[in-house]
Amino acid sequence: MTSLIESPERTALRAAVSALGHRHGPGFDRAALWAEAGKLGYLGVNLPEEYGGGGGGMAELSIVLEEAGAAGAPLLMMVVSPAICGTVISRFGTQAQKADWLPGLADGSRTMAFGITEPDAGSNSHRITTTATRTEDGWALDGRKVFVSGVDIADATLIVGRTSDARTGNLKACLFIVPRDTPGFGRRQIDMELQAHEKQFELTLDGVHLPADALVGDEDAGLLQLFAGLNPERIMTAAFAIGMGRYALGRAVAYAKERQVWKVPIGAHQAIAHPLAQAHIELELARLMMQRAAALYDAGDDMAAGEAANMAKYAAGEACVKAVDQSVHTLGGNGLTREFGLASLIAASRVARIAPVSREMILNFVSHQSLGLPKSY
Ligand SMILES: Cc1cc2nc3c(=O)[nH]c(=O)nc-3n(C[C@H](O)[C@H](O)[C@H](O)COP(=O)(O)OP(=O)(O)OC[C@H]3O[C@@H](n4cnc5c(N)ncnc54)[C@H](O)[C@@H]3O)c2cc1C
Repeated sequence: MTSLIESPERTALRAAVSALGHRHGPGFDRAALWAEAGKLGYLGVNLPEEYGGGGGGMAELSIVLEEAGAAGAPLLMMVVSPAICGTVISRFGTQAQKADWLPGLADGSRTMAFGITEPDAGSNSHRITTTATRTEDGWALDGRKVFVSGVDIADATLIVGRTSDARTGNLKACLFIVPRDTPGFGRRQIDMELQAHEKQFELTLDGVHLPADALVGDEDAGLLQLFAGLNPERIMTAAFAIGMGRYALGRAVAYAKERQVWKVPIGAHQAIAHPLAQAHIELELARLMMQRAAALYDAGDDMAAGEAANMAKYAAGEACVKAVDQSVHTLGGNGLTREFGLASLIAASRVARIAPVSREMILNFVSHQSLGLPKSY
């Protein structure tokens, strides 16, 4: 278990990524930043060294995403490509899958999206119906997904389905790598009110034929294998949210020091200063829980990491929404101008409250799992 005080190596990583993020800054060219971050080893800092990664864990990867976001240059695909897909492949993939995918995911030259959400299942993943049927030489995949991010810029999507002999009942998840241009794998961009580089897609899988080695891990391994990827996703969503909250707060604080409409800068009024101070405290607290979740995950304690990752995602999502809201307010009318660029974060910050698991579903988890309260659904 890591100490509560950040190691010199991690502090140095934080500073280096922050410098890179600020060099690219808001309005950044996503592909250029992704490529540079990949070359410098930041995108694969959690992946095994023997496959070109940094040999670190979620503690390091979350630092990278947080600092890029805090510089105004968030890399959303880090939540899925190295964190979920890279983790699942390194933990459960075959030697061939590792050799095929991990070096590219580590240096950013290849990207993998992740699709679990379905229109008729939503938060209830046990209801997913994307079905994998065995064929003579592999698998046929049929189903639909929604809100899957970055499918157009990803070389493949890791699709969560269930096998046809486990069509109903509790989910026994199985995971398939589906290359972007596989026949029968359709995508339609969803028109989102989000100003992000990464677009969301509705996917149709219509008799998608896959070779046997498209299956990652064991078809019967079920949720254990899936959660190996979902806990990193929650930790990384927390990092994404904390980065965004810090970015917004930084802009608001700078503005509050400068802007003067009476005799003193507006930041001297406690009505402006205190909510900003609160936002800062809440972001720091969320980061502490995120660091705990990452430390537990990296120590191999998947169960404890699950609870901490949920709590970290909750805390970070709430802290981010509040920080962005107060930051926009601090700028007065300028908070809503395109020029200052904060208003678009109002929509973006809500993503951390909804995805990958909503605030309410985390409260459900904590009610049942942590507190032992009865289930309502
Ligand atoms: C920008 C963005 C990017 C995304 N990227 C991806 C991606 O890359 N891959 C992917 O697979 N998915 C992705 N998602 C999907 C995301 O994970 C889902 O939106 C999320 O899991 C919620 O599912 P839903 O939208 O169907 O909401 P629903 O499940 O329909 O929930 C609607 C509301 O009801 C509440 N609710 C539901 N059940 C309960 C209950 N039992 N108790 C209390 N409240 C409840 C929820 O909290 C929520 O507020 C993305 C979503 C967004 C917005």
